[in-house]
Amino acid sequence: MIDPAYADVAVVGAGAAGVGVGVALSKLDLDIRVLERERVGASFRAWPDEMRFITPSFPSNSFGLTDLNAITPDTSPAFTLDREHPSGDEYANYLEAVVEYYELPVETGVDVREIQPLADLDGANTVATEAVEPLSAVDGGTVSETTDSGGFLLETSNGPLVADHVVWAAGHFGSPRTNVISGSEHCLHTSAVDSWHSHTDTAGEEFLIIGGYESGIDAAVGLHNAGASVRVLDRRWPWAERHPDPSEVLAPYTLERLKKIVDSDRLTLNGGRDVERVRRTDDGFAVDVRPAAVEDTPSGVNSADESETFHVPTRPLLATGFEPTLGPVEPHFVVEESSVQLTDRDESTTTPGVFFVGPDVTHNGVKFCFIYKFRARFPVIAESIGQRLGVETDVLEEYRQQNMFLDDLSCCEPDMCDC
Ligand SMILES: Cc1cc2nc3c(=O)[nH]c(=O)nc-3n(C[C@H](O)[C@H](O)[C@H](O)COP(=O)(O)OP(=O)(O)OC[C@H]3O[C@@H](n4cnc5c(N)ncnc54)[C@H](O)[C@@H]3O)c2cc1C
Repeated sequence: MIDPAYADVAVVGAGAAGVGVGVALSKLDLDIRVLERERVGASFRAWPDEMRFITPSFPSNSFGLTDLNAITPDTSPAFTLDREHPSGDEYANYLEAVVEYYELPVETGVDVREIQPLADLDGANTVATEAVEPLSAVDGGTVSETTDSGGFLLETSNGPLVADHVVWAAGHFGSPRTNVISGSEHCLHTSAVDSWHSHTDTAGEEFLIIGGYESGIDAAVGLHNAGASVRVLDRRWPWAERHPDPSEVLAPYTLERLKKIVDSDRLTLNGGRDVERVRRTDDGFAVDVRPAAVEDTPSGVNSADESETFHVPTRPLLATGFEPTLGPVEPHFVVEESSVQLTDRDESTTTPGVFFVGPDVTHNGVKFCFIYKFRARFPVIAESIGQRLGVETDVLEEYRQQNMFLDDLSCCEPDMCDC
């Protein structure tokens, strides 16, 4: 049998969450590995060219107000990039700079395919690992070095790895929510578009977007600015709603951009519409809608009072959000109504030793969908693992000083996330 490589902690995914929690863990005396299927910040690099961060960056760290898009207490994308609203590529450059600065052990091109508790294996892994080359061991360690936590065998595209703890940081960009309406196979999810300008060059000049929150309005602005005509359909009227929590309504940055084009005759916003199905027609697509049953209609908007059909020559665009990418950890988490069930330390409720981090962390109905929210759980996970493995964790106090250490969940009020 080939001895698998060994780590105290395997972090899966090198996006904002994986790199951020990796840095927090790297401050402790632990042997960690960050495994990334593509490259650091791969999801950000897949954003449409025109898309920008809606949360602003500002180099305010030295005043105790960490840049909203920073993933460590002492870095700032605004400072690194000279940008207030970075593009996806720029933010990925920031993540790469953080990896380099902290000398984070990120292994790219490594796809994690299966994660099994060692306790369940009973020698069966001997066969599974014989056929593959192992990842190079950091310290030549082997299975026998796992602690009482039980440990896990990770089957990866680069060979087996045994880790005491696993932190799942695979994000949700890889799991667009597409199966939401009848005929959705005729549609294109906004995450599949590389650039709104090139989309108008290749697809046409008239578009219909299903979903009017952040992604939908971003697509509408991008297409409009590329010269196209756009109709946006939504069950509610996100562009007319107000709430103090930016997770509930469109961000100021989005509203600001929308305001510039809202009176254009190339933009139509239709709220109060439930899309029932999308059909292929001889000259394009038909989108059947019915009036949505909405009780608290915002003032100043018009409700639909009868079913109607919109015709569009191009594939309707789905701006319908994302599901958490669970893949090989699916058996290790309970998911209720799209919400991954977690302990108050962000650990699986059924498989101790597997943690979850990123925009799909939810507590008390609050989604930690923005970076400035989910980053506050990095030190919580690092502290939990560090304490279990008996290493000093006081160094994580720097996160508390920078208001990046949320271990008291009583402050969380229920809300929702539409990014
Ligand atoms: C369109 C959009 C706009 C957003 N805008 C903002 C914003 O303005 N401000 C804000 O704060 N937040 C924003 N968010 C929310 C959040 O910041 C992003 O979702 C962010 O990408 C989450 O980071 P992550 O590390 O969890 O996921 P990702 O950045 O997606 O990283 C996950 C990584 O895991 C890798 N991976 C997946 N599966 C495996 C596997 N099996 N093995 C190995 N590697 C794997 C992927 O290749 C990827 O690199 C936005 C989200 C979306 C979708």
